[in-house]
Amino acid sequence: MDTNEFREAAKAAIDQIADYHESIPSRRVVSDVQPGYLRPLLPASPPLDPEPFADIQADIHSKIMPGITHWASPGFMAFFPCSSSYPAAIAEMWSGAFNGAHFNWICSPAVTELETVVLDWLAQALGLPECFLSGGETHGGGVIHGSASEAVLTVMVAARDKFLAAKTAHMPDGEAKEDETWRLRSRLVALGSAGAHSSTKKAAQVLGVRFATVPVSEEHGFAMQGAALAKTLDELAAKGLEPFYLTATLGSTDVCAVDDFPGIVEALSRRAGTPDDVWVHVDAAYAGSALLLDENKPLAKPVAHFHSFNFNPHKWMLTTFDCSAVWVRSRAHLITALSIKPPYLRNQFSDSELVTDYRDWQIPLGRRFRSLKLWVVLRAYGVRGLQAHVHEGVELGEKLEAKIREREDLFTVFTPARFALVTLRVGGVGEEQINARTEELYEAINAGGQFYLTSTVVDGKFAIRVCTGVAALREEHVQKLFDLLVEGAQKMVKGQAG
Ligand code: PLP
Repeated sequence: MDTNEFREAAKAAIDQIADYHESIPSRRVVSDVQPGYLRPLLPASPPLDPEPFADIQADIHSKIMPGITHWASPGFMAFFPCSSSYPAAIAEMWSGAFNGAHFNWICSPAVTELETVVLDWLAQALGLPECFLSGGETHGGGVIHGSASEAVLTVMVAARDKFLAAKTAHMPDGEAKEDETWRLRSRLVALGSAGAHSSTKKAAQVLGVRFATVPVSEEHGFAMQGAALAKTLDELAAKGLEPFYLTATLGSTDVCAVDDFPGIVEALSRRAGTPDDVWVHVDAAYAGSALLLDENKPLAKPVAHFHSFNFNPHKWMLTTFDCSAVWVRSRAHLITALSIKPPYLRNQFSDSELVTDYRDWQIPLGRRFRSLKLWVVLRAYGVRGLQAHVHEGVELGEKLEAKIREREDLFTVFTPARFALVTLRVGGVGEEQINARTEELYEAINAGGQFYLTSTVVDGKFAIRVCTGVAALREEHVQKLFDLLVEGAQKMVKGQAG
């Protein structure tokens, strides 16, 4: 494809993508193809000769489109959103045009410098404590990873090395210190609440450390409490284990619970002689965007006591996947744990230590130019535009909750609307029937194809999750979903009576 052919094909693609966006509301939300649908539609091996680009574009419509689930659909109320926007899409095109591996500053100085600036902007917009800014007193700063899971794994490596270094700091370098380090490694425990995302357990698995769960209860909205953490820490200490890392969640996946940050600070500060042993990472993968709203800013204050914070602008902040923003209070811990300098990566700028090499803040070497889309989104919407988007999702969640509460004969609110997530269960039947009935209703809504919801089971209770954060969602869609819920629940009641 030469430049002129590129101009033509790319312009055609833009038109087709714009048409696709316009068509989304009329499409079935979830693809209904059967597993293995694609193989019979494609040749068994790749073409030996070039194919006309128009044929390839046509196959995107005929062969790929049927297997797409439309995450931008107003009927998509499943999981958490994975939001996009036209400004982010255009920035992605530029980022692709500047294609490179961008691991060191010199690989494209703008890629590194924009990331540092934009993450400082974003930290301010969220009201994160000063210590997470690149110019802050503790030499913190932000970096963009691909996912929240990657962020957890990366900071857990830094937490482990920080812990081991502190515990053996009194020993001179040598065999005895190495033996003690390896002995301690076998005792390490990473912690998360029972509501923490599975990525914490997975990171512990990858790192080869133990994982322990802090129990949560319905009484406290499934949020981790300081007292429960203190008890778990005591139990681990009694077994001679070494807790070194904790995920504290702001907006849990099941029900958007927010752990008791002040309680966690207190529980950790009471540990005799070792208050800073445990690295606390705040996982705000989805709900971090809610900190854009002034009423949520107080939630960010206690984060000053913690070590790292992460949220995914690609979830709720109109920034195309992938974009996971991670901040650390002290970048030295990351760099000490992850910096390796083979001769082929050295250059005068890195050696001068006047520049940031983001390869030392992450596990992979190469990196995409992700900050461009974040910069473009922040400018194209402004903080006020992003606040309006997040606020709308929050409000729609509250409206849905109010509707559910009006039909206490049919439903119960399992957890109230928080950060645009409501969870509900079928009501009006005996406890032993609620799980089965709720699941039946959930399956019926999804089978209809207009909406896509997901479910969860917390403490053995099956609940339907409805997330109202998708940008295209309006009140009419919420009303339509509610009508379908009512219709489905009434049918079940009639079926029972009949
Ligand atoms: N943390 C929370 C609270 C989540 O809800 C999710 C996913 O929804 C994750 C972490 C994992 O996110 P990622 O897909 O970016 O790894």
